[in-house]
Amino acid sequence: METVDVVIVGSGFGGSIPALRLAQSGRSVVVLEQGPRLTEKDFVPSWSFREQSRLFTTYQSQDYSVFFRYGRGVGGGSLTYAAAMLRAPSEVFAYRDGDDYHVWPASVTRAALDPHYAEVERMMSVSRIPWDEVPRAGAVFAMLLDKMGLTCDRARYPMVDCLGCGFCMAGCPYGRKQHLGRNYVPQAETAGAEFRAGCKVERLSRDGSGYVVHYRDHSGLAQTVAADLVLLAAGALETPAVLLRSGAGLGELHPEIGKNLNNNGDMALIFQLPPDFPDAQMFMGRNNAGMITYAFWEEHKITIHAGAGPPALFAALDVVRDDGEAPRAPLGLEFKRFMRDNYPNRLVSSLAIGLVDSVGRVTVDGQGLVHFDFPMTPALSAYIERVAGVGRRIAEATGAKLCRTADSGWEHADAHPLGTVRMGDDDAKAPCTPAGELRGFPGLYVTDGAAIPGGTGVNPANTIAANAERIAAGIVAGG
Ligand SMILES: Cc1cc2nc3c(=O)[nH]c(=O)nc-3n(C[C@H](O)[C@H](O)[C@H](O)COP(=O)(O)OP(=O)(O)OC[C@H]3O[C@@H](n4cnc5c(N)ncnc54)[C@H](O)[C@@H]3O)c2cc1C
Ligand code: SF4
Repeated sequence: METVDVVIVGSGFGGSIPALRLAQSGRSVVVLEQGPRLTEKDFVPSWSFREQSRLFTTYQSQDYSVFFRYGRGVGGGSLTYAAAMLRAPSEVFAYRDGDDYHVWPASVTRAALDPHYAEVERMMSVSRIPWDEVPRAGAVFAMLLDKMGLTCDRARYPMVDCLGCGFCMAGCPYGRKQHLGRNYVPQAETAGAEFRAGCKVERLSRDGSGYVVHYRDHSGLAQTVAADLVLLAAGALETPAVLLRSGAGLGELHPEIGKNLNNNGDMALIFQLPPDFPDAQMFMGRNNAGMITYAFWEEHKITIHAGAGPPALFAALDVVRDDGEAPRAPLGLEFKRFMRDNYPNRLVSSLAIGLVDSVGRVTVDGQGLVHFDFPMTPALSAYIERVAGVGRRIAEATGAKLCRTADSGWEHADAHPLGTVRMGDDDAKAPCTPAGELRGFPGLYVTDGAAIPGGTGVNPANTIAANAERIAAGIVAGG
């Protein structure tokens, strides 16, 4: 059987970053990635469903109330994310859940992550968006806050000479977004790591002191590769599934694996602009629209940032007015006319992100397919009402109209699943140690969003990346 020093499952932030560090330490590294290798020439400036389903894998909760998606390919979510690269506020790391459990390991703080954030930002050319590149949607969002006497900051991104075309989440066709395929992946390859595209990992089994990784290659053939060091980085929905599919061949699993799915407190707020505001031009500029406000952090522990509105996404969102005015339902002539008159200039979208308990759960069925539940608990419902209250405050103070994004409630997940194989100090509550190692499985690590034990208060990629740098540094230092 093929044997290497390290096998890494998945090539997003949690996979490609340790691939570089472990290859640099002289280890032989194989990265197995289910998606294709994509470069700029493969990205098309289009929001068609055909393109979106080529680039993303999507999941719907069992009761259809929550939807998640992630980018697939060598470079993982970095290929098609909107690319806000923000550091989590310090207070995030002090979060205690409803059981008074301090979800982050005591050793993982903002100060401990800061050098790793800095390294990720250097590697990916992250900088603050220049004033003249702030999209109109971001500027209009900032005007709403300004009208309330509140502040808004320019956010940080890995863009170099951005053209403002507005297709970041379809993959930047112009090479301006510095995804992992432009930095960590090629540097890891230069250091000797091998990235195998089109290879889907099915399960792991134990092999003496190490592990065998069972996968299907790009032609569907069953293959195996063995290593003493295995890093799971298939994303927060797939990493627990790899473990759950492994069953007895791997050994008795920690009972919390798959539990504690966190949606990062995401909640979409869409505003119909007051008549005296300029047009938002939501189809233009980078998709994470340049501006973020921390003005509600003190009171509610939420940030809100401006977003863009790709037409296909907007047509699919159930946009209805929160105040009961037309449109009251996301279909029919009334809805069509509202969208015709308001998209893309008179609506501006934004995403609130905040700290919530981890209530979801990932499971696999008899065929190994991933499912998840995301129950509406009283605490989550209270959080959603609080965020909606902030949206109403903004609307009332500015003359904007708040829109709901799901006719029966509010869109409260999509892009930021976390926590399903979380790290933590408590042996019983956290499957992974603070070092990222799966308890009871020496040499088996979780380095992606699954390890992040709670919400990050902002978009999570930079924290996932910094944590992957931190775990990789620990493995290298351990010899
Ligand atoms: C539309 C969109 C916009 C976003 N915008 C932002 C943003 O602006 N800022 C931000 O911080 N975050 C953003 N995110 C979230 C961000 O992309 C994720 O948090 C991040 O990519 C997660 O990193 P990860 O390493 O955990 O997993 P991923 O980056 O998802 O990587 C997992 C990889 O594993 C592969 N994989 C899965 N299963 C298997 C298997 N069985 N075998 C082999 N390979 C497998 C997948 O194909 C994928 O390539 C966005 C997400 C989406 C969907
Ligand atoms: S807005 Fe900028 S980063 Fe986004 S796709 Fe266009 S050129 Fe690339």
